[in-house]
Amino acid sequence: MKSPIGEVIRGFMSLVTGMGVTIRQFFKPNVTVQYPHASLKMTGRYRGHIELVRDPATGLSLCIACKSCEKACPSDCIAVEGVKRDGEKRKSATDFKVDFTKCSLCGSCVEVCPTDALKFSRNYNLAGTSREAYYLDLLKRLQTENK
Ligand code: SF4
Ligand code: SF4
Repeated sequence: MKSPIGEVIRGFMSLVTGMGVTIRQFFKPNVTVQYPHASLKMTGRYRGHIELVRDPATGLSLCIACKSCEKACPSDCIAVEGVKRDGEKRKSATDFKVDFTKCSLCGSCVEVCPTDALKFSRNYNLAGTSREAYYLDLLKRLQTENK
């Protein structure tokens, strides 16, 4: 039979151990944030949806509308259109849509691009109440969001 004094001592030691853990954690730096009021910076290897890369010289997309990414995409979720304007050596994209509902983030489009015009975004908090929210117009995003 266990002695009542031994039970009290064990209970007290258990309390001290628990408080020790609590006090140690109390002084450690926070590893969580108050999402959605604060958000973490994603690492370089994080893959959000693809986005267009801006040419630093012109401020426009580096895409030459070659459609290599469209052909390489195994999920058929990229649609690119482009034109070759007078006086320009290469085509430039006039429309670049991605259906992110079908994207597997495989990276084939990023790898195949001859001008490094595509990269993965760091966007991890896309949210929407309809499929349409995930049909992305990358040219429009480049113009409005990445400046
Ligand atoms: S990451 Fe893969 S699935 Fe997604 S758009 Fe690019 S090629 Fe298609
Ligand atoms: S592979 Fe690159 S340059 Fe060609 S259409 Fe896609 S994003 Fe544009």
